[in-house]
Amino acid sequence: MKIISGEEMRELERMTEESLKIPASFLMERAGLAVVLALEQELGDLSGKSFLVLCGTGNNGGDGLVVARNLLDHTDMVSCVIVGEEERMTNLTRENLERLRLLGVDVKKFGVDIDLDGLAEMIKRSDVIVDALLGTGSRGEVRNPLSDIINLVNLYAGYVVSVDLPSGLECDTGRILGMAIKANLTVTFVLPKPCHVLFPGRELTGKLKVANIGIPRSLCESMNLKRSIITKSHVKRILPERKKDSHKKTFGTLLVIAGSRQYLGAPILTCLGALRIGCGYVRLLSCEEVGRLAVGREPGLVFTSIDGDSFSLKELDLALELAQESDAIVLGPGLTNREHVCEFVMNFLMQIDKPVLIDADGLNCISKNVDVLNSVRAPVIITPHPGEFARLVKQPTEQVKYNYLLAERFALDHNVIVVLKGATTIVTDGKNTYYNLVGNTSLAKAGSGDVLSGVIGGFLAQGVAPTEACVLGVYVHGLASEKYSMREGTMLVSELVDLIPYAVEEVAR
Ligand code: ATP
Ligand code: MG
Repeated sequence: MKIISGEEMRELERMTEESLKIPASFLMERAGLAVVLALEQELGDLSGKSFLVLCGTGNNGGDGLVVARNLLDHTDMVSCVIVGEEERMTNLTRENLERLRLLGVDVKKFGVDIDLDGLAEMIKRSDVIVDALLGTGSRGEVRNPLSDIINLVNLYAGYVVSVDLPSGLECDTGRILGMAIKANLTVTFVLPKPCHVLFPGRELTGKLKVANIGIPRSLCESMNLKRSIITKSHVKRILPERKKDSHKKTFGTLLVIAGSRQYLGAPILTCLGALRIGCGYVRLLSCEEVGRLAVGREPGLVFTSIDGDSFSLKELDLALELAQESDAIVLGPGLTNREHVCEFVMNFLMQIDKPVLIDADGLNCISKNVDVLNSVRAPVIITPHPGEFARLVKQPTEQVKYNYLLAERFALDHNVIVVLKGATTIVTDGKNTYYNLVGNTSLAKAGSGDVLSGVIGGFLAQGVAPTEACVLGVYVHGLASEKYSMREGTMLVSELVDLIPYAVEEVAR
């Protein structure tokens, strides 16, 4: 399902008005009605319930006033408050205010001085709060009196529905602009916005409903939106088929270059991830200790040993030879980033011509010289968590987290596919961007990222196109964590590996 930014949404509305002669007032009417229908669907009969509709002076407030009017079809217990200065009110909002007045609804207007105690009482007395204070256009810190009002709603409201997005969220980032509403339900229009899928916005959104408001699908499609949420039907189409007339090499050879005496477990998890998603031949190049453990856990692994405790230029020829015999490579988990390891990593990357996924210490090694990415003669995937991405782009972690614009820029500049991991994972090749919402906090455990690199690498080795391998990989990896039936967080990473078949089965079905 596509995602639309605030700017793109305004463009879509403009096109609807210009080319289809559908005025903004029609869309507002549909939006307001959609919120009431969604409430009915969620809460059942609305007739016995009391509502407090909080409106801003912009068009989001106008939507709220339409909600208030349509609620009158069900109940008389509808109170309405408009917050903000009269002069700032948009025409559509003013028109809908007039309609409510004609219906005899008392709409309280709040300027700067607000009776906060009185409002608190109103919030406590209402069954449902409709939040139509701020919409997709809101920018900059939320100021008073809005921030006080938002605070009261979060303290005292029983049930909150937000119109389009929870007030106080930045539409295109999901960041909180100082203070934001925590909604139970958000009804958005046409398509989800970035704030609904990126934290903290994703959490404040509550349950998300996407409502049509009369903008035809064909017009949306004509916009060629480049960002989308990964869905099961999307990944089902990517999952490689299992040809009957086949043998192990049909399903790809993956070379995993990983591990050191310091990190014995990571390479094993990567290899198991690749085997579990159906890769035919997984070859591990690592130090002796890793090999013994790996083959002990899974005898089906093919192991080649390096001489010492970690990689150095001595291993370059051997690694390049094995790369020649492989369809794809995973480079990085558990390597350490000592100088001789990084020397190996840099030289290896400059000489290979097979698709490669770089993770963990592989990324730490190249962070001193990211331009090496541009000289790789084959597709490159990088799978950083925010800390690793921060080192690559030399910015603070907080600024790179969920920063899809930065990931897109990096992907274009370095001609790579970026998998920026997190509670929402972002996959981008710069031209298209995908958000993975599947998975849970069971994955927040050391080693789960190593499994992911194996899963993606395993698809890559089977010939799945690089961007698609990432999209499919993050989805399957996330879904596997959801297959764990006990309390989130009690899952072992080795159990995650063993749940991958259930996730693949669900995708294939
Ligand atoms: P490290 O690289 O620091 O040694 P690691 O490789 O185990 O540790 P990451 O590389 O950060 O960990 O990978 C963690 C994986 O778990 C990623 O795929 C990430 O998307 C997923 N994940 C982490 N936390 C959550 C969460 N709260 N909800 C969903 N998925 C999560
Ligand atoms: Mg990792």
